[in-house]
Amino acid sequence: MSATPERVAELQERLAAVHARIDAACAAAGRPREEVRLVVVTKYFPRSDLDALVGLGVRDVAESRAQEATAKLAEGDGPPPGVRTHFVGQIQSNKAGEIARLADVVHSLDRAKVVRALARGAQAAGREVTGLVQVDLEGSDAGRGGAQPQDVPALVDLVVESGLRLGGVMAVAPRGADPAPAFARLAELAAQVRAEHPGAVMISAGMSGDLEQAVAHGATHLRVGSAILGDRQSHR
Ligand SMILES: *Cc1c(COP(=O)(O)O)cnc(C)c1O
Repeated sequence: MSATPERVAELQERLAAVHARIDAACAAAGRPREEVRLVVVTKYFPRSDLDALVGLGVRDVAESRAQEATAKLAEGDGPPPGVRTHFVGQIQSNKAGEIARLADVVHSLDRAKVVRALARGAQAAGREVTGLVQVDLEGSDAGRGGAQPQDVPALVDLVVESGLRLGGVMAVAPRGADPAPAFARLAELAAQVRAEHPGAVMISAGMSGDLEQAVAHGATHLRVGSAILGDRQSHR
């Protein structure tokens, strides 16, 4: 099934608006536009939307639930060709093998067990998977996952030792607070990680509501869902 022409037009308009926001944020931060990639989070929305987005030039798509990702990306002949698939949700270690078979980049590594399980899955599938360590910037157990900042160096080393490709770091800004200090903290952590692992240049930060602040603080990958696809509430 493909998206209706009305839906494609809507996605095109919203995608263009998000690109305009990213262009403006890069200009304001004095950063080259090529440093920042848009990853479109398609969770809760159908495969037809994903295909429409790819038709509109999107090359990075993300899912956040293993079961949904498998159902959606295994549909038809698998993920659309030329598309990089990202996984951004919390990972149960018993789902890591499934995720390793379908994701090229996993943003949400936050404990040793998950890193090891993903690495085993990637090896079994014969796939190169890039992993980012997710950091909890709220200093509390807010239920959004993420390693405590002091645990990041050891986890980063484990990602490398386990045979995954280390991408960098990821965070979700604290709810209901100014995201700027959190993104600044993430940038510091990212610099620490790069000092040991110069190839780990990815900073995954920024969503629909705070992508400007993320770009201002060095984000390289923005994870944007609702600003492009619309409200998820009606799709749950
Ligand atoms: C859903 C989700 C996003 C996208 O959020 P929007 O506010 O809809 O842009 C980004 N990151 C993660 C980890 C998510 O689960």
